[in-house]
Amino acid sequence: MSNRRLAYNKGADRMPKRLVLVAVFLFLVIGLAGRSVEASQMAVVTNPTVNLRGGAGTNHPVVGQAGQGARLPVLGKSGDWVQVRQANGQAAWVAGWLVRLEAAPASVAPTQPATATGGQVAVVTTGAVNLRGGAGTNHPVVGQAGQGACLPVLGKSGDWVQVRQANGQAAWVAGWLVRLEAAPASVAPTQPATATGGQVAVVTTGAVNLRGGAGTNHPVVGQAGQGARLPVLGKSGDWVQVRQANGQAAWVAGWLVRLEAAPASVAPTQPATATGGQVAVVTTGAVNLRGGAGTNHPVVGQAGQGARLPVLGKSGDWVQVRQANGQAAWVAGWLVRLEAAPASVAPTQPTPVTAPGSVNPTDPPDRTVRALVGNAVVDVEAVDVRSQPGRQYTAIAQATRGFRLPLVAERGGWYQIRLPNGNLGWVESATVRVDIDTAGLPPVNGGSDADPDRGEISFDARVSGDRVIITVSSTTPIEYSAFRLPNPDRIVIDVDGFAGGQVPATQTLQSPVVSTIRTGEADGRFRLACDVKQGLAHTRYKTDLSGDRRTLTVEIFAVANVMQGRVIVLDAGHGGRDPGATGPTGVREKDVVLAITLEAAQLLRQQGAEVILTRQSDVFVELLQRAEIANQAGADVFVSIHANANVDHSKHGTSTYWWPYPDVMTPGQIAARERLAGALQTALLAGLGRNDLGLFQARFAVLRATNMPSALVEVAFISNPVEERLLADPAFQNRAAAAIAAGLQDYFQEY
Ligand SMILES: [Zn+2]
Repeated sequence: MSNRRLAYNKGADRMPKRLVLVAVFLFLVIGLAGRSVEASQMAVVTNPTVNLRGGAGTNHPVVGQAGQGARLPVLGKSGDWVQVRQANGQAAWVAGWLVRLEAAPASVAPTQPATATGGQVAVVTTGAVNLRGGAGTNHPVVGQAGQGACLPVLGKSGDWVQVRQANGQAAWVAGWLVRLEAAPASVAPTQPATATGGQVAVVTTGAVNLRGGAGTNHPVVGQAGQGARLPVLGKSGDWVQVRQANGQAAWVAGWLVRLEAAPASVAPTQPATATGGQVAVVTTGAVNLRGGAGTNHPVVGQAGQGARLPVLGKSGDWVQVRQANGQAAWVAGWLVRLEAAPASVAPTQPTPVTAPGSVNPTDPPDRTVRALVGNAVVDVEAVDVRSQPGRQYTAIAQATRGFRLPLVAERGGWYQIRLPNGNLGWVESATVRVDIDTAGLPPVNGGSDADPDRGEISFDARVSGDRVIITVSSTTPIEYSAFRLPNPDRIVIDVDGFAGGQVPATQTLQSPVVSTIRTGEADGRFRLACDVKQGLAHTRYKTDLSGDRRTLTVEIFAVANVMQGRVIVLDAGHGGRDPGATGPTGVREKDVVLAITLEAAQLLRQQGAEVILTRQSDVFVELLQRAEIANQAGADVFVSIHANANVDHSKHGTSTYWWPYPDVMTPGQIAARERLAGALQTALLAGLGRNDLGLFQARFAVLRATNMPSALVEVAFISNPVEERLLADPAFQNRAAAAIAAGLQDYFQEY
């Protein structure tokens, strides 16, 4: 310091040169720091929307915006601002408290320059990805591609990859959702037109158009589904000529199929032979079964994808099979895959006659229904829940990553699950991870489209002092759900698998807690509705299912205190390496919300509630794990506690977020969520007296992955100097905690 001061004091003539040197040095330091950060980090936007600015401060103009979850390559830092590369490739600044920094995946290193890239394909590595009009999530979705889809790479910008869609048009996909590979020679655009025998084109994406010529300008003459195997007739450019299911030639884009050697069994030169010990597995959506070996023969039946038909013989490239009705028919060999038949479906075995609903030993394995106990947790971004096990069936709901669906049964590659609204649906097993409580249950049904688990059900109710004990007995293992419904106040027990016989009669009880047990039956579900005398707020129930799942015991009793026995999950936002937002003087969100949460937990426990915390110290917990904790606990409510932040430091006030999930929830479940959010917001306003910013619907992970009513409170703005000071004040923290407890009290008066 003294040397420098001395040098500066020597004379004004030397100062400019030294300043230039200092400036060059600083530039180098910042430049190097920026580059080293760039290679390794992404800024993930943690607020619903953030402004991107021309400089490191709110005084700089807004040059763009990014939505929650957007991932922006980090170019550098200045104070608590982060310089990022926008989707359009230009640099901009974002407030550091609105983003979370993460290591950038190596394959999408943001240092990669924008380049045109020939000879590469982008292979989709996740469930289903959006294709967009530009290189960023702010651009509109112009298409989608499924896992494993191979899209020719046209170029790159930042960590986005430009690809050619199935329709031939260019689109952009996020680089972290694909894996880049050298394009296989078979789809290289330079390849000359050739005739190609002995190959099949296997469709690698959802559904592809078959066209009259080698280009998207030709008319669509047919379609083929994922996994369909089409004999290859020739090639032109990157288009492949194939034989359709109807026997006619058509063209398919080469980047939508994978070429494989045709198995000998469907080679068109093969002589007619009798073939024992094989099954033909249908590889496409639905195939016609015909009276003879050719499309000129009449259609005598149909079989769906995955159907397994015992092989009786072959002629040319047609395969003779035994239909489900026991009669022989012919199927085109290019629509099936031949497999060795398991002993139980050997074609020499006689077709037995079995009673409906009983286990048919000759049923192929993929028709076997197994009853399951446990949960399926969605393991892809979004999964369609379908009415029946098959992609061709209607999607009745969609569930997003982390959502937990109780398992009912398994058939083939599909799980039957129960939606929160009580409806049953099917999900593909590859899209979920399962957590099965009891493995190895025997198959309870097979070979029919009837719901599994159907049995005869009876129930018995007895009054024991101030309790009512209901015992539901079934001849087969059951699945059940129990829940509370208001107006009239009742506890409902739904049991799946009712055979549809005589419905046990309604019972009237002499009990202080339950007046009547009403019975009903619909869609194979047996329902008991227990009308409660003291209101839901003062009634509790416990359920217990026996080990063999044939006896369900429900105990209903009254409590004096509305909070008694409530299971409440409180979620202090952020924690550990995720500080959340930071205030102007450095107060951290993770610290103040933990203080509020711990105090609220203590108050609620004093009131008789059972409180579960997702964290009780300064540790990092994944968002979905927070929801999972509540789902596992079967909590009554989930409340996530946060402090808000905005680049505009004048913004202040209290807001509460909730998410309705309309396709999986009943109106009653949605109403409960809104009621919870409203009760919390009202109590926070009354207790804290801050500005009312209102209720908002938001697809936050913790809100959409929680199966029970859930809400997220933003107590105040930590980015506002006044509210930052309040949030750091223990007296304000205690008032916020008391308000949250009061809001829950209010909610539980009704539910
Ligand atoms: Zn937060």
